[in-house]
Amino acid sequence: MIFDVQSFSTHDGPGIRTNVFFKGCALRCPWCANPESQERGVQLFYTKMKCIGCMCCAKACPNGAVSAYIDPEDIQRYGYVRHDRSKCDKCTTHECVEACLQEALAVCGEMMTVDEVMAKINRDSPVYRNKGGVTVSGGDPLLHPKFLTELLRRCKEDGYNVALESELCVPTKNLEMVMPYIDYYLTDCKIIDPAEHRRIVGVDNGVILENLRLIGERCPEKMCLRTPIIPGYTDSDENIDGIAAFAAMCHFRKMNILPYHKLGVTKHERLGTTYTLPSVQPPSDEHMRHLADIIESHGVECIIN
Ligand code: SF4
Ligand code: SF4
Ligand code: SF4
Repeated sequence: MIFDVQSFSTHDGPGIRTNVFFKGCALRCPWCANPESQERGVQLFYTKMKCIGCMCCAKACPNGAVSAYIDPEDIQRYGYVRHDRSKCDKCTTHECVEACLQEALAVCGEMMTVDEVMAKINRDSPVYRNKGGVTVSGGDPLLHPKFLTELLRRCKEDGYNVALESELCVPTKNLEMVMPYIDYYLTDCKIIDPAEHRRIVGVDNGVILENLRLIGERCPEKMCLRTPIIPGYTDSDENIDGIAAFAAMCHFRKMNILPYHKLGVTKHERLGTTYTLPSVQPPSDEHMRHLADIIESHGVECIIN
C-alpha cells in the first residue's frame, strides 16, 4: 500500500533520490507531518481551496457520505462539503473523486506490485544510478517486510543506492530481512525515556532501541539518527543528552536535529482528522545550537536541518 512515489528528492539520503512512501505506522506522533501515512488503508483527501461547492460529489456518492456546510470564517465562498469518514474509509468505489471536476478530491493510497513501483523508479534511472538512489519511507516500510525485501533486492540488482527511513518499531526479524540491501539508515529517536515515549507517541521505545543497537553492532557508519525538536516534547537538555549518549554507545557518527514545522496541520484538514498538538512555535536558532553542542559533547557530529 503506497501513497506516493516522489522523484528528485534531495532531503532523505545522499544525492538526488526517488522516495517511495508506504502507508502504515505504529506510532502516533502529535506533530506528524505525514498523517496520511499512519493508517494502512486507503483514505480520502479533500482540498478545501479547490472546492467550489458544486455538490457533484454528493450526487455521485452511493453511501450518502457527503453533506454541505458553510464555513462561518469564509463566507465569501459558496460553500464546502464534509465527508462522513466512517463511510468513506470503507468505500472501495470512490465515485465522488471521478465526479469532482475541480480535483478537490483524491484517493490517498494505492495497492501496487513490486513491478509497478520499479517501473516508477526506473523512469528516473539515468539520473539516480550515479548521483543518488532510492529511499523507502512512510509510515514505516518495515511493516511490509516481504514486499520490501523483494523491492530492495530488485533495487540493488539494478544498481541503486538504497536508504531506509524507518521508525524501527517492528520485530527485529523484519529489520534483519532487509539489512543486506541497505546502504543508509535514517531513523528517528524522538524520546529516550520509555514512559514518556509511550505517553506521547503511544508505544514503548524498547524494540526501537533494540533495533538501533543491532545496527550499531553491525554497521554503525550507515546510520544517521534524527530527532525532531518539538518544544515541550523532545527539546529538553535531558532528552537530547540521553539520545546523544545512546548514539555514542551505538558508535553512530552523526545525528540530525530537525526544528518543528507545521506542515501536518493542512494535511490533517485534508484528511478530516484532528491535529492534536497544541499551539507550538518552532525552536529558536539559539536553542537548536545549544542542543547541537550537547550532542557534540558526546563525540557525535550534529547537523541542524
Ligand atoms: S513516526 Fe513518523 S510517520 Fe509515524 S506518526 Fe510519527 S511522525 Fe508520523
Ligand atoms: S469515498 Fe465513497 S463513501 Fe466517501 S464520499 Fe466518496 S463515494 Fe462516498
Ligand atoms: S469536492 Fe468537488 S465535486 Fe464536491 S463540491 Fe467540491 S468541487 Fe464539487
